[in-house]
Amino acid sequence: GFKTGIVGLPNVGKSTLFNALTRTAAAQAANFPFCTIEPNVGEVSVPDKRLDTLAEIAGSKSIIPARMTFVDIAGLVKGASQGEGLGNQFLANIRECDAIAHVLRCFEDDDVTHVDGRVNPIEDADTIETELMLADLESIEKRQQNLVRKMKGGDKEAAEQNDLLNRAKAAIESGKPARTVEISEDEEKAWAQLTLLSAKPVLYVCNVEEDNAGEGNQHSEAVAKMAAEQGAASVVISAAIEEEISQLEPEEAEMFLSELGLEQAGLDRLIAAGYDLLGLQTYFTCGPKEARAWTVHAGATAPQAAGVIHTDFERGFIRAETIAYDDYVACNGEQGAKEKGKMRAEGKAYVMADGDVVHFLFNT
Ligand code: GDP
Repeated sequence: GFKTGIVGLPNVGKSTLFNALTRTAAAQAANFPFCTIEPNVGEVSVPDKRLDTLAEIAGSKSIIPARMTFVDIAGLVKGASQGEGLGNQFLANIRECDAIAHVLRCFEDDDVTHVDGRVNPIEDADTIETELMLADLESIEKRQQNLVRKMKGGDKEAAEQNDLLNRAKAAIESGKPARTVEISEDEEKAWAQLTLLSAKPVLYVCNVEEDNAGEGNQHSEAVAKMAAEQGAASVVISAAIEEEISQLEPEEAEMFLSELGLEQAGLDRLIAAGYDLLGLQTYFTCGPKEARAWTVHAGATAPQAAGVIHTDFERGFIRAETIAYDDYVACNGEQGAKEKGKMRAEGKAYVMADGDVVHFLFNT
């Protein structure tokens, strides 16, 4: 599955957000640094109204949403790359994530201590990014030392890796994260294998006070501007509100949201933004037994999509019988879509579209 690491300085609201996401009291929110010691891992359902519509049309007995994993990563402080605080463990945990949700404190509250004694999300973001970049420089150096001998032996792959590492190093030394390095399609695989921390896609999560949960505040505006300049994304939420909402029944939650003048829970927007950031999309399988959402990378072919269900489906792939979501709804289900010629037989080269409703045919 896809994994997003929640990072941020101590006391910015990571645990509060994680609790809201996973509806668990396991990650305890407390008003002092380092309260989250072990990384907490939580699975989240990806909200998608289309799935409910499909289930209703098909009379599906059960609904199984797509899942996404969030990891609450222990508090990072200045000097983590040098082993300060819980530094090294923190960095190892980030390395395993596909993306980073970087929580920034954008709320003013004198009762909640800020590690540096002032609210400044731009500087906070910089503090953490600097640690990631320092850790990257160290691992780049180690990797390059190991590559020297291989390159002398004429290893082409080693030379390619070395070139990528040089480009990452140049970016970092000029003060920019590795995600600003331009990578060609051919290089993508080797680039991903370097698992540089500052190369991971970042979603800035602006944690604002309750009153600003709708349009944000001056802090979150500054963050949005910074994100745009960096090729990162940003969302505004109030972790405190989200935690309250997460304890309510769905109807109560909707009432509460409309009282606050909000259309959609922040967490839904957060998860959707995470999907976008990771370049993910959804396809569906749907029948009387279950309606289910599956996650693929945008650009995935039909066999690759089948492989998400089971590797055998990918290996023995014959074809995909596909109905676009809108057609499925307009024709009131599979039978209607078939009659109107809206069910397509797609082969190995077919690139999945978001919302495809699919049957895979395969050899065993
Ligand atoms: P972490 O150290 O980043 O995991 O931060 P926590 O989630 O433990 O939150 C630290 C403190 O800030 C707790 O006392 C929370 O109740 C408080 N807090 C978190 N989010 C908000 C918020 O949106 N508004 C206010 N006023 N306080 C918050």
